[in-house]
Amino acid sequence: MKNSNVAIIGSGINGLVAANYLQRNGCKVTIIERKPTVGGACVSELMSFGGTQQKYALGASVLGLMQKFVYEETGLSTVLQSFAPDHPKIIYFPGDSEPTLIYRDPSQLDQEFSKKWGETGDVEAFRVDEGRVIKFLQDGYKAARTPTLSDARNNLGETLTKLWITGDAKSLLDHYFTSERAKIYMAMNVSESGPVSLSDPYSAFTMPLMSSGSVFDGYYGFVKGGIWKITEKLKELAIVMGEAQSLEDQQMLQQLIAALINYVPGFDAYGKLLIPGRDFYQHEDIYLDKKIPENQRGLRNGLASELLHKKMVDMQYEGME
Ligand SMILES: Cc1cc2nc3c(=O)[nH]c(=O)nc-3n(C[C@H](O)[C@H](O)[C@H](O)COP(=O)(O)OP(=O)(O)OC[C@H]3O[C@@H](n4cnc5c(N)ncnc54)[C@H](O)[C@@H]3O)c2cc1C
Repeated sequence: MKNSNVAIIGSGINGLVAANYLQRNGCKVTIIERKPTVGGACVSELMSFGGTQQKYALGASVLGLMQKFVYEETGLSTVLQSFAPDHPKIIYFPGDSEPTLIYRDPSQLDQEFSKKWGETGDVEAFRVDEGRVIKFLQDGYKAARTPTLSDARNNLGETLTKLWITGDAKSLLDHYFTSERAKIYMAMNVSESGPVSLSDPYSAFTMPLMSSGSVFDGYYGFVKGGIWKITEKLKELAIVMGEAQSLEDQQMLQQLIAALINYVPGFDAYGKLLIPGRDFYQHEDIYLDKKIPENQRGLRNGLASELLHKKMVDMQYEGME
């Protein structure tokens, strides 16, 4: 695999992490992204509110599912600051005068559920069994092994596999809990994760899956500056680590080359192009002047083919507007 040329389609967090591992193992990576921005579902948008500009998350907002070894091995842990609150989560149901605290410690949680919600089920057993399924998943992540049902049955046994993986969330919650509130709270993971009914087969699996991130032991944490720093930093690391160009530069080059090749006098795409300031094509004026006379068309074509040969042998037209 070393010294291979690898193309990755999509610059979401997974494409960027894959690029990071491949680059560190000596591959030359080209990421092809159809959108003008890097990051997929882990990006921000700028809004203006009351005269203040504020970035907010368009998709992912908290650091949840990432594995600790990925966070460390990619180099993210050295360039980002992240934290998870120590304080237990605070839950209010309508009409509650005091909150229910979601303790990490299973026996404390057991007592809290019992006191606040009259729970008489087995909260500790829920956490212990969930922990076994989570460990099975995390071992698979580390070994880069896709989990299969037969692996799960061998590892967890038939009963846990049926309850936690192939089964439905309602049966899982009825198995461990008696109070509606405990069931509703635990079921939130399922309903926020997708349009799935709690009675659907495999819906139980959402619960251990959503808690299988290991940066904060299954809990959600935050990244200083916003979660989108994850993809921004992965992009920066990709550029530092190899010959990889920034994805925006690649796209601009693609547009530039397309514009040059399909040159039509007055075509106003030239005016919109941003030119990456590098090498021999640093002179923006050439490109920004859309009234370049016809007799200079050769210059454009020559430049286009030079760009093509030097920079974009592997260029992709995928996603060009
Ligand atoms: C609203 C929302 C909230 C979320 N909240 C959280 C959260 O708080 N915490 C958390 O951990 N997770 C959260 N998630 C999940 C998390 O954001 C995603 O699991 C993760 O970002 C997915 O990364 P990915 O690389 O697999 O895919 P994506 O981020 O979807 O990236 C795929 C990329 O591939 C590109 N692409 C696709 N097809 C092509 C093609 N043919 N050619 C070129 N490019 C292509 C797309 O443009 C995109 O940039 C949330 C997701 C959403 C949608």
